[in-house]
Amino acid sequence: MAKVKIEIDGQKLSVLERTTILKAAQDAEINIPTLCHRPDLTPEGLCRVCVVEVEGAPRLVASCHTPVTNGMVIHTRTPKVLATRKVVIELLLAGHTGPCVTDECAGDCELHHLAADLEVGLPRFQVKKRRAYPVEKISPYVQRDMGRCILCRRCIRACAQIVKKDVFAMAYRGFDSKVVVDCDVPLDKEVCKDCGICIDHCPTSALTQPKEGVC
Ligand code: SF4
Repeated sequence: MAKVKIEIDGQKLSVLERTTILKAAQDAEINIPTLCHRPDLTPEGLCRVCVVEVEGAPRLVASCHTPVTNGMVIHTRTPKVLATRKVVIELLLAGHTGPCVTDECAGDCELHHLAADLEVGLPRFQVKKRRAYPVEKISPYVQRDMGRCILCRRCIRACAQIVKKDVFAMAYRGFDSKVVVDCDVPLDKEVCKDCGICIDHCPTSALTQPKEGVC
């Protein structure tokens, strides 16, 4: 495969064509935050946390699924880029069903880490919150709390692409969008075994190992 010449944050690079901007940046040790993306899954550009500015492009692009082209000049930390990432995180936090930033049950949450890294505090926006769902504890392998879900679809892709199962899917639309099992039935042990791949890939505590207690 041929190589193309690009520039990221002033660094001149020669990279294989079809490489994504994110991969090219990571290879050059330039950090671009991500949320819906994981390197072992196909990129979908859903969350927009990884946006960057490309000179000549009419709008910011999601670096996780945008391939480089010859002569591309990319900026990963302009004021516009940083402001956009912060708003994306703030909207995700605002759309949660509860004050999860201060919630002990939220566990080790990538959304919280990103909020801290980008210096996003309590959200300013009064947006419609996602519907509150009861915590589902039927499966002995996966506890589901869809009120904490940020619809990144990492669980859907991990289950389908890595384990070659299709336990999860998206259903409904708009604010009612939800990751479901079959026709929105509880997850049970017949359809899901104990691989735990969805838990490993969930950036929030929407999917966790079942545990005793209030969380
Ligand atoms: S359950 Fe977790 S991995 Fe699945 S879409 Fe929601 S936040 Fe993403």
